[in-house]
Amino acid sequence: MSDRFFLNEFPDFVAENSEEIIDESSLLKLLALPYPSISERFKGAALELTQSIVRETWGRSGRRVNDFTLYTGVLGTAFLLFKAYLVTNNGSNLSVCSEIVRACDSASPGSRSRATFICGRAGVCALGAVVAKHCGDDRSLAYYLNQFREIKLPRDIPNELLYGRAGFLWACSFLNQHLGANTVPSSHISVVVKQVIDEGRRLSRKGPCPLMYEWHGKKYWGAAHGLAGILHVLMDMELKPDEVEDVKGTLNYMIQNRFPSGNYPSSEGRDSDQLVHWCHGAPGVALTLAKAAKVFGDEKFVQVALEAGEVVWNRGLLKRVGICHGISGNAYVFLALYRLTGDVKFLYQAKAFTCFLLDRAIKLISEGEMHGGDRPYSLFEGIGGMAYLLLDMIEPSQARFPAYEL
Ligand SMILES: [Zn+2]
Repeated sequence: MSDRFFLNEFPDFVAENSEEIIDESSLLKLLALPYPSISERFKGAALELTQSIVRETWGRSGRRVNDFTLYTGVLGTAFLLFKAYLVTNNGSNLSVCSEIVRACDSASPGSRSRATFICGRAGVCALGAVVAKHCGDDRSLAYYLNQFREIKLPRDIPNELLYGRAGFLWACSFLNQHLGANTVPSSHISVVVKQVIDEGRRLSRKGPCPLMYEWHGKKYWGAAHGLAGILHVLMDMELKPDEVEDVKGTLNYMIQNRFPSGNYPSSEGRDSDQLVHWCHGAPGVALTLAKAAKVFGDEKFVQVALEAGEVVWNRGLLKRVGICHGISGNAYVFLALYRLTGDVKFLYQAKAFTCFLLDRAIKLISEGEMHGGDRPYSLFEGIGGMAYLLLDMIEPSQARFPAYEL
């Protein structure tokens, strides 16, 4: 199993300005820096990485779009640039971002494109509208919002996050958060929410888990294709009391049926306790539990979220870099727990994973000790996710897992 992750040899805690570890490794020295200094290091590295990602995914391709998606494609670069703009207020980040979104718009004709934020046209239109608003470009804003309204969900669309209804609903929440409530009217959203709930109840067949979903014939539990991602999105929706009960009941079912280690199966009935990824396993579930703790104000969800976080700390220093199934994504678990509890232990854990990346990732990838992703510059699989995490670590209490946490 340990070929999937590096042993976590970090001390349980390293205080800032700690004098005890002055003679230790460069990694521990980084961890002992006062936050303002380390934050500057994060920022410098993030902006440098962002520049190289733009060069590799946009400049070198002659500004042509092969893959428009946010997951592995150039919309991920645009999303990263938008974040860099929010952090630095540098207008050139915003203008390159808007140029990329325009090209993604041309490359994602409505009828043939999927309807989600992360893997579909909803991401292009929603990000396009928000970026246009920041540019003060009312014409483009109206254009992208109109295009968003044109998106049709096929009858047989799945319900999960990457390709299904949850991914469309997330785009609606993103628009309403950035452009104001009711930018996408609740009447429009509630139709889709009802479909998600109805399908979940139908597939659960009144079994012990109130909501269940399938993607390609498998009942997944993780954030990318399964329950964790769908429930995470549902908790941002206006739900009726019986729907809230079904969301809680589904979470309770998952908690009762987790592995003895505290990790979560990637799908229903799966008994190999291996994956500790955002897409499959404890990290994605931990984010959903942390959200449940906040939304429902229930101490039990805090406790199980912390237990899932423990799994991520012990087995989540993955030999991969990205946010979907890599260290960058797993670091967001600690940031969510830090937001939830205010405990600096979790900020330290997030810092430890981030410093590991900053200190070693590029070298380990070049030596083949770590996998840089099939799309090495992408947001979800590659160093795009690492750059995003570094930007988020500048103000960790405001950090949000990209294209997932609101
Ligand atoms: Zn993944």
